Amino acid sequence: MDRSTSQRPEFWRVAQRTCIIAAAVDIAFFGIFLALKSPILAWVNVISVMMYAVAYYAYGKRMNGLATSLVWTEVVAHAALGTVLIGWGSGFHYYLLMFIPALAVTMRGKTAVTALMILFALYAGLYLQSYWHEPLQPISANALLGVFFFNLSVVFAMFSYLGFFYAKSISSANRKLNRLASVDELTQLYNRRQAKALAETELSRADRNSLPLSAMLLDIDHFKLINDVYGHDKGDQVLQYIAKIMQRELRQHDIIGRWGGEEFMIVLPETDLAHAEYIGERLRNAIGSHAWGTDLGHEIQITASIGISQHKQNETFNRLLKRADTALYMSKSEGRNRVTAIQEIPKHIANTSLER
Ligand code: GH3
Ligand code: MG
Ligand code: MG
Repeated sequence: MDRSTSQRPEFWRVAQRTCIIAAAVDIAFFGIFLALKSPILAWVNVISVMMYAVAYYAYGKRMNGLATSLVWTEVVAHAALGTVLIGWGSGFHYYLLMFIPALAVTMRGKTAVTALMILFALYAGLYLQSYWHEPLQPISANALLGVFFFNLSVVFAMFSYLGFFYAKSISSANRKLNRLASVDELTQLYNRRQAKALAETELSRADRNSLPLSAMLLDIDHFKLINDVYGHDKGDQVLQYIAKIMQRELRQHDIIGRWGGEEFMIVLPETDLAHAEYIGERLRNAIGSHAWGTDLGHEIQITASIGISQHKQNETFNRLLKRADTALYMSKSEGRNRVTAIQEIPKHIANTSLER
């Protein structure tokens, strides 16, 4: 895909907005140069305003290539004419520098290097031209100073705008990426990776402060059947509602993650086994008694099985989770729709592999 069209739309909105600013600047210049009795430069600005108007329209119609060529032509011609007619001291050449960030965004590789070299040659060429030749339509020293400061201010303001725009779009892109990397898209709960990372932080906090902490695994019962009977989309909706029920029933600082398809992992900081079992029962009841008719259009009963264990000082998260998983396995094998809280893996299970 053409790189210029693959850019984020924000970039083109900025380019379009820049056309309005540039046109406004040129309208100001029209008056200034008429007053300074430089009619050629004054009328150049009228042409410029027209070019920006077309470029603005073209950006709006997503004809980004055409719009960008117009802007380039205008800026190069304007900088060259301004410098040749009234001299380097006018500061018109600064506008050429605005292409460096624009180039960095729209071009890559050899094309970018070539464009940069052309830009440099243009800039240096203009300097040498004004070094060797007197301006063709000189204006008074004071007027030149005024034009210089005007141009300097406009370029300064535009660079600042561009700089802050890019800083803002980078940090917003980073936020989006972080979110994508840590949140499960369907349920908006933490994904497995993030839930594990947060759990491990909570575990070391619990160890450091000798606080109780419990982990819970929750698995929806016969979820495959829900998919088979009502369709995968309804299955997805069930997952979303169960995520909402969990968020409603649990505390702000509990960590809720989507551990796998229809399995959730919850870390309950500052919670011992008995209290975690009580919370588990509350959660099981909330899911089991939820009126699905209004949410799904089907009056079905959905239940969940839960396994819980309490963290032991300095043990790894995996060991804790293994006990919670064994407890979940026990809930499943004892008939589902129940909560099992264990602190040790029963001997008769310890030697068998867990197949749920
Ligand atoms: P059990 O009571 O033993 O847990 O039975 P189950 O049917 O819930 O468990 P099983 O592991 O046999 O099936 C889980 C099903 O979950 C199978 C899979 O298609 C479904 N599933 C996993 N992820 C998603 C998802 O994101 N959306 C939907 N709709 N279904 C999913
Ligand atoms: Mg299941
Ligand atoms: Mg499962």
